[in-house]
Amino acid sequence: MNLPALFVSHGAPSLLLDGGPAADFLKSLGQKFPRPQAVLCLSAHWETRGPLFTASEKLETIHDFSGFPEKLYQTRYPVSGFPELAERAAALCRGAGVPAALEPKRGLDHGAWIPLMAMYPKADIPVVQVSLPFAQGPRGVFALGAALAPLRKEGVLLLASGGFTHNLRELSWGKSEASAPAQEFHAWTLSALREGRLEDLLEAPARAPHFLEVHPRMEHWLPLYFALGAAEPSWRCEVLYSGFEHGSLAMDAFAFSSASEGSES
Ligand code: ZN
Repeated sequence: MNLPALFVSHGAPSLLLDGGPAADFLKSLGQKFPRPQAVLCLSAHWETRGPLFTASEKLETIHDFSGFPEKLYQTRYPVSGFPELAERAAALCRGAGVPAALEPKRGLDHGAWIPLMAMYPKADIPVVQVSLPFAQGPRGVFALGAALAPLRKEGVLLLASGGFTHNLRELSWGKSEASAPAQEFHAWTLSALREGRLEDLLEAPARAPHFLEVHPRMEHWLPLYFALGAAEPSWRCEVLYSGFEHGSLAMDAFAFSSASEGSES
């Protein structure tokens, strides 16, 4: 059985403390699919030149944010790493012509541990995090997902964590109605995903309306390509959650599976 590849929007670091519909959705997400043997997570918050895989037995909880309630800095997600999976993933990458390496010390940043804590609060499913090769752009991140696609057959959940829109300058706390440009971008990308328009998506920074307004920098957008690549050659997109928080953060989440996989996701 193949697990789908997921894209989730992780929102603000205080997502779980604040609660709300997107937090409730993430808390329900762990039960929606069969329990994975392990999770391989790519987050917007660890950028490197080429992909690196966390390869330690114990993963530190990294508090890579400032200005949030003290309680958040005391929160730990005490999950185990999975060095053998890191090695297998790096080997798959190299086999696909994607240079990759292991990182023996790093733990999980908040883009990884916040959704994981919501989905698997017992912290009993081992995790490997892979870094975002930012400079390689949409096609490079897509190729990384494609290289790791075989892991979906091996009980590994491929989880991409970013933000469907992410312009922090436009944030308006507590407001749920999005700006007109954010809504236009949202509608365009959602139909491109549903219609399987791969080239439009790979060229979204040039083709999607208002791209630079909703993604002034691309790091929260790029994880989407990881999930898409993992479901190629032609994906089925299931919209798991759709909606805005704080005026400009689209919190959409998707499950991607290959069209040829039928309905087993
Ligand atoms: Zn983030």
